Amino acid sequence: MALGEFTYRPGRGQYLDAENVGLLGHVLAFGDDDALLERLQAYRHTGRPGYPVSTMWRAFQIKYLLGIRFNRDLIAQLQTSPALRSVCGFGDVIPHESAFSRFFARLANHQQEIESIQTRLVEWIADEIERQKKAGTIRDDSPPLGEVTAIDSTDLPSHASIRRKPHTDPSARWGHRTPKFSLSANELFLGYKLHSVVDVNYGVPLVDFMLPANESDSPQLPKLVELLKDTYPWMEPRCVVADRGYDATSNYVFLENQKLFSVILRRNTDRDGDIYTLDGRPRCVGGEPMQFVHTDPHHGHLFRCNPDGCELKGKSPWLGPSCVSEHHEVPAGDPELLRKVGRLPRASEFWGWIYRRRQSIERLFNSLKHSRLLTTHRYLRRRKVRLHASLSVLTSLMTMLGRLTTGDYARMRWMRLTMSTVAQMPTMRAA
Ligand SMILES: [Zn+2]
Repeated sequence: MALGEFTYRPGRGQYLDAENVGLLGHVLAFGDDDALLERLQAYRHTGRPGYPVSTMWRAFQIKYLLGIRFNRDLIAQLQTSPALRSVCGFGDVIPHESAFSRFFARLANHQQEIESIQTRLVEWIADEIERQKKAGTIRDDSPPLGEVTAIDSTDLPSHASIRRKPHTDPSARWGHRTPKFSLSANELFLGYKLHSVVDVNYGVPLVDFMLPANESDSPQLPKLVELLKDTYPWMEPRCVVADRGYDATSNYVFLENQKLFSVILRRNTDRDGDIYTLDGRPRCVGGEPMQFVHTDPHHGHLFRCNPDGCELKGKSPWLGPSCVSEHHEVPAGDPELLRKVGRLPRASEFWGWIYRRRQSIERLFNSLKHSRLLTTHRYLRRRKVRLHASLSVLTSLMTMLGRLTTGDYARMRWMRLTMSTVAQMPTMRAA
């Protein structure tokens, strides 16, 4: 049986052959963490004699790696597959469902340790990318991890019963569903949002935090960038990409002060009379949007009247088809121009090229939902939902590392994580 055919089917035993088990073991090894296991070991004195914590920790990672929804299904899988038991370290007896719930609840006390595993995995991926660049398996002009990042949030509903008053999750809040996932723009959901930073070239989730769903996206951008810089001081981010939900002047100013290019879609908030188009082009004397020519290091972005002509065409004997309107825009130090024209000019092809790479964060969120159970859980309250989201991200990183280290992308697909082909990234030019 090929790994690609290994899918989870409730109620049916799964067969893992030696090769598959080897691969699963290879991936699980990335999640081994002494600091976390030592902390968890401390609980052993308080309860009944149980199973080694490393065994339970592995079982939970398998649950996310294979996309097994409920603990009872995980138990059924372990019961039917000796290979799966052995890769976790269980003997013939599998703990009761309540032991799994208790373990998860304890794990939720160690969010910090879980997050440091996440950080370590990202560092590992960055090293592996650089190693493979030297080895020639990844193009040596590929960007380093973290150079261009995208910021976005995804809905994370609570499993609270909303029929009961008050509803059963006191830390959850009502928020608007992200429009792309609902038909009505005003559909509400109860729960949280996961705010994330993702490397757009490799599709690697770098940092994230979870907030109640009523917190809006835009103010989270500076916090996410600061978290990114604190978590990975070695990283050299150069550009942040985001959708129009983050289009706020304060964000452009923040990114400019951080020496980061912003590639954020503009909302159409300005009424008639704005001389700038939404793609950042000023209008010429004749009222037509001008063309972006190039960026001059001394004079800023050069715009010129469309050579096909504008309203002033032929109006005057000394004018050609165009009004010969030429104009430099200097966004540095001007918050409105930073937003409307862009430090990296919105009108440039390069801007559009980078913005299109934002889809890698959408791809990651979809993958977390479809293969990592992100939105199909039964947890209540911030701590548990947070842990659940972290495990979802953590196992994605493990799969990614597995793919990178084995170079066996086809076989790793069963753990379902798309890794975007390394982009051919034009060199970032300073404006
Ligand atoms: Zn003109």
